[in-house]
Amino acid sequence: MQTITLKPGRDRSVRRHHPWLFDGAIKSTSGDPTGGLCVVRSETGEWLASGIVSPAASLRARLMRFDGQPVDETWVRARVDDALALRDRLVPEETDAYRVVNSEGDLLPGIVIDRYAGVLTVQVTTSGAEAISPWALAAVDEKLRPRSVVHRRDTPQRDQEKLSTRSEATGEPLPPEGILIRERGLKFFVDPLGGQKTGFFLDQRENRHRIRELAARRSVLNVFSYSGGFGVAAVAGGASRTVNVDSSLPALELAKRNYDINGFLPSAGEAAFVGADAFEWLRAERAAGTLFDLVVLDPPAFVKTKGALDRGLRGYKDVNLQAMRLVAPGGILLTCSCSGLVDVDLFQKVIFGASTDAGVTFRILERRGAGPDHPVLLDCPETEYLKGLLLQRVG
Ligand code: SAH
Repeated sequence: MQTITLKPGRDRSVRRHHPWLFDGAIKSTSGDPTGGLCVVRSETGEWLASGIVSPAASLRARLMRFDGQPVDETWVRARVDDALALRDRLVPEETDAYRVVNSEGDLLPGIVIDRYAGVLTVQVTTSGAEAISPWALAAVDEKLRPRSVVHRRDTPQRDQEKLSTRSEATGEPLPPEGILIRERGLKFFVDPLGGQKTGFFLDQRENRHRIRELAARRSVLNVFSYSGGFGVAAVAGGASRTVNVDSSLPALELAKRNYDINGFLPSAGEAAFVGADAFEWLRAERAAGTLFDLVVLDPPAFVKTKGALDRGLRGYKDVNLQAMRLVAPGGILLTCSCSGLVDVDLFQKVIFGASTDAGVTFRILERRGAGPDHPVLLDCPETEYLKGLLLQRVG
């Protein structure tokens, strides 16, 4: 166990129970950090918090307990029980894919566990989290009894901390066609080892459902479609036509298989899948005068670092401007950003800038985010990364 002593005056965020402790606040350390556990004390020796430590990272410690007690196996297992109880209450019917553990949001920072039917994917993102993950995993394993567990080790901080970056699957071999999951009765193939993220954009589940509710008799454009989740939801909701655009051909193939497994391929046809750069395609469609009743825009994170902020914001503005011009009068746009460094206010400003430049007026119908299986700790708003604005074109 390592003891971390803070510099004078640097205890404020810890006293507010913020889980992140950066190295700049640390006066001295003592004891052995290899076990991954730590205790944080004020300059005068007062016990402030316990948590996990990553000696090689500038985000040195992630704090979990503020009640005078150390982090131990019993406490970690209790967090997993809490996490599972929340999902039992909130995961919708006919759904066997959801986030089981959401890092800070479940008081298990650095640990993300997703469930895809009988398969779990595990992401342990820091060396400190490695220390407690066997306890968390054992607890999840006892309750959910997965057939296979996929360890995704391709997250950036692992590389910085010189942890293994080799992903692997344990347990039963994964079916080559992908794991078949169900979301509100709709079927999807998921590749938890090779797919983007951990194989499926679970965080968009409630937004897919909203699109399903809004899609009846509408033409629907799904830009940055990946495995076609929004498109499938729109067809299920009675869309008259769907078009999925993505630059990745494997992603489009997967989308096509997802339409097929739901019985939607014959009516949708090949024209529902377009392999193209979204920016170029949107511009070309605008020139052709195409309009859609409902547009979903869910790009990859354009802002991954602070240095990429300006460029990324220009990307959001440009792609939204192009998409807005394709929304029919009275039509709806769901525009999303999963860049954690762009908060909701900034995102809304960028979208406003895009609408001004596009020369169209939109109004906000709803503010959207990730579903409740991705809880966000009030103490740590920085982890709320997914934002969505459901907008309607006026006139
Ligand atoms: N909306 C999806 C997730 C989108 S992930 C869902 O709910 O499942 C982002 C997707 O954007 C990826 O599939 C990636 O291949 C695609 N992409 C990235 N850059 C692109 C570009 N310039 N043009 C089109 N697609 C792009």
